[in-house]
Amino acid sequence: MFTGSLRLAKVAGIQIRLDYSLLFIAGLVVYQIYLDLPHRAPGFSNDIYFWYALIGAVLFFSSILWHEFAHALVAKAFGYHVQRIVLNVLGGIAVLEQEARRATHEFWIAISGPLSSAILGGGFLGAQLFFEEGSVIAALFYWLGMINLLLAAFNMLPGFPLDGGIVLRAVIWLITQNHLTASRLASYVGQFMAALLIMFGFVSLFLQGFIMGIWGIFIGWFFLTSSRLQLFFAQQRAGLRGISIRQLMRSPSAVNADWSVYYALDNVALTGGNQNAPMPVLRDGRVVGVFSGESLQQRPRQDWWRLRVHEVMTPIELVPRVEADTDLYDALQAGQMQVVPYVLVTDNEHPIGFVSRQDLLRLGENRL
Ligand SMILES: [Zn+2]
Repeated sequence: MFTGSLRLAKVAGIQIRLDYSLLFIAGLVVYQIYLDLPHRAPGFSNDIYFWYALIGAVLFFSSILWHEFAHALVAKAFGYHVQRIVLNVLGGIAVLEQEARRATHEFWIAISGPLSSAILGGGFLGAQLFFEEGSVIAALFYWLGMINLLLAAFNMLPGFPLDGGIVLRAVIWLITQNHLTASRLASYVGQFMAALLIMFGFVSLFLQGFIMGIWGIFIGWFFLTSSRLQLFFAQQRAGLRGISIRQLMRSPSAVNADWSVYYALDNVALTGGNQNAPMPVLRDGRVVGVFSGESLQQRPRQDWWRLRVHEVMTPIELVPRVEADTDLYDALQAGQMQVVPYVLVTDNEHPIGFVSRQDLLRLGENRL
């Protein structure tokens, strides 16, 4: 539905993007502040209310950015790479490159957002006291103070993908020391909360009006889906835990760097190997590259006699490598196995085999 986003700036190495859906919400925020200001600061002109509402909207989105930056900076302090912050119709998200490795990390990264919103809300409410009661600026600061406290409270609701859901999982994870159990319990709590919201939405449809009801159903449905999805991810994570790369690895026979490509492929076929799987290329007893029949797709067949293996191989320095005892989950999380068709498996930096995308798919078929 809302997929496009606008690149805004880069701060502390973190990209900030605005989702286009936000432009729609920005109008609503300006309008809401414009309606609210006269209650606490009556007697000013509509122009004044409008300009303060505009400033208020900018400060409101800065508040959300502040919340997301708290997540991002705490994550960075724990050594996670933060790809970007996106502001969207539901607030914002800080996108980390990988999931939290420990319960304590997850706890602090998640709770830092609501905590910083609460502090900011307190700050606005405090600042408001320095201005004359009934002035527009005092009314605006009051509004910003309350909205930030509301933001903190809303985000602490115990459901995914809200911070509260993640905090809940982190706490159970910390107690049980089991990520899957924690995810399951937190997901059930989240689904229960989502069901309540949907019910509330349906009731509101009749009692409080259409918009309120639809909003409740929409948000509830979104939480329900997210909570289920989080459990699915956790199950996947548990399934991949404890499988070392070594268990998936294949060690095909090597080809010689100076062989013709035709001879090399013939040799593989004769030994019953897969011509499209990666093979180590040897020169003087050392592995210097990786060769696979797949790399020949662009080359005309009649050239295969002439072409030498070293001319079409991938030099060994360019092949991503993973140590044999790495947990499969860690390897996937670190992104080492996501973009390339295969990785080189090493034992004390010594090449000993490959894991290819096909091997991963094979594992998936057996487990899911
Ligand atoms: Zn948050």
